[in-house]
Amino acid sequence: MALVVQKYGGSSVADADGIKRVARRIAATKRAGHDVAVVVSAMGDTTDELIELAEQVSPMPPARELDMLLTSGERISMAVLAMAISNLGLEARSFTGSQAGVITDSAHGRARIIDVTPGRIRTALDEGAVAIVAGFQGVSQDTKDITTLGRGGSDTTAVALAAALKADVCEIYTDVDGVFTADPRIVPTARKISRIGSEDMLEMAACGAKILMLRCVEYARNYDLPIHVRSSFSPHEGTWVTDKPIPASLSSDRGESPVEQPIISGVAHDRSEAKITVVSVPNNPGTAAKIFRAVAEAEINIDMIVQNDSVGASGSADISFTLPKTEAQTAVTALEKIKDVIGFERLEFDDQIGKLSLVGVGMRSHPGVSALFFEALGEKKINMEMISTSEIRISVVTRADQLDDAVRAVHTAFGLDAEAEAVVYGGTGR
Ligand code: ADP
Ligand code: ASP
Ligand code: MG
Repeated sequence: MALVVQKYGGSSVADADGIKRVARRIAATKRAGHDVAVVVSAMGDTTDELIELAEQVSPMPPARELDMLLTSGERISMAVLAMAISNLGLEARSFTGSQAGVITDSAHGRARIIDVTPGRIRTALDEGAVAIVAGFQGVSQDTKDITTLGRGGSDTTAVALAAALKADVCEIYTDVDGVFTADPRIVPTARKISRIGSEDMLEMAACGAKILMLRCVEYARNYDLPIHVRSSFSPHEGTWVTDKPIPASLSSDRGESPVEQPIISGVAHDRSEAKITVVSVPNNPGTAAKIFRAVAEAEINIDMIVQNDSVGASGSADISFTLPKTEAQTAVTALEKIKDVIGFERLEFDDQIGKLSLVGVGMRSHPGVSALFFEALGEKKINMEMISTSEIRISVVTRADQLDDAVRAVHTAFGLDAEAEAVVYGGTGR
């Protein structure tokens, strides 16, 4: 008997039929003799719809109230799922994040989990019930207000709960059969990865592969917890994210021979970033520091940076950087304030960009990866506006409307295409 934490994403619980299908799956796990704690997301695109509703009544909704609103999405699914399970003759009890002991800091909209004290969940499990926890939410240690963990945060709830309960595995159920070498919605010939190490998975998630939220992968790595990403719509074995042997009692893929570490794990893409260019910055030491200090003080994380000779005044430079689109307005306001102190000419803002990243820890020891990467884009006449590399990643910024072609070109160039087409079972890809 194992203790299994199962997380069902929005596409898996999109409607009543989906909820009943998920309830049957949970009941089967329970009847197989396992203890089951479940984390659910809001139904379908509920979170996006709630955000749109908030924006209709206020262009900048107060963060505390927005969190209060958004957490209602997960509360609907947890209660309805508990009803569906009890209809199958099993006891199920639902809990909000706060009731489940998910304690966070007070950063509304992007709270970090500080601690999980799952006393009530443990009791429910010990009493033979299925415990159902609303994902994506917690309660602030200081303010006692309800917080959310950022988009995709139910993944993090699931892993944090699994770690606190010392579960044997955290199963993430979604609308595709696992982690693929690229998003199957863009690359139909993407290949399912049967097993991926945490370093590769961290990098894929950090580069925008939204199949797993970055913080959930960090958490699982810190607690040595295996994640099994799989579809709630099919019986297939999914992708194991772990650096250790796969728990034999929880996997049907026994006897799989250890494969050699591939050079490339996959191609990730990201449409959530924008680019800001600070035009005609005087070429003095310390100027860049002032620019990035101002951005940092606005608590904005930036991603790529490039500096070029200026298109404006000669002898000066243009500095471009990328950041989340959602933070762009704050960054522009912060930079406008120091315009005269620094003496730059103007700011340019561009949200029509896309980022593509090729990821693989095997790249470290393999020459020629960048050459092949740039050739693949060159052949498709795709212009690269920014480039950044690490030992295990190459990322470039392209025009947003060329991103899909770029992903497919790189995927093919590195021989990642599979023969069969990947199945996308549900969801709107939103
Ligand atoms: P959920 O609602 O279950 O949380 P998400 O929409 O957050 O699901 O994540 C699943 C989606 O992630 C898939 O439908 C797919 O479009 C996308 N995705 C992006 N990159 C990958 C990848 N490398 N492998 C699999 N899916 C990916
Ligand atoms: N419902 C939240 C979102 O859409 C959390 C999640 O699904 O993981 O981002
Ligand atoms: Mg998700």
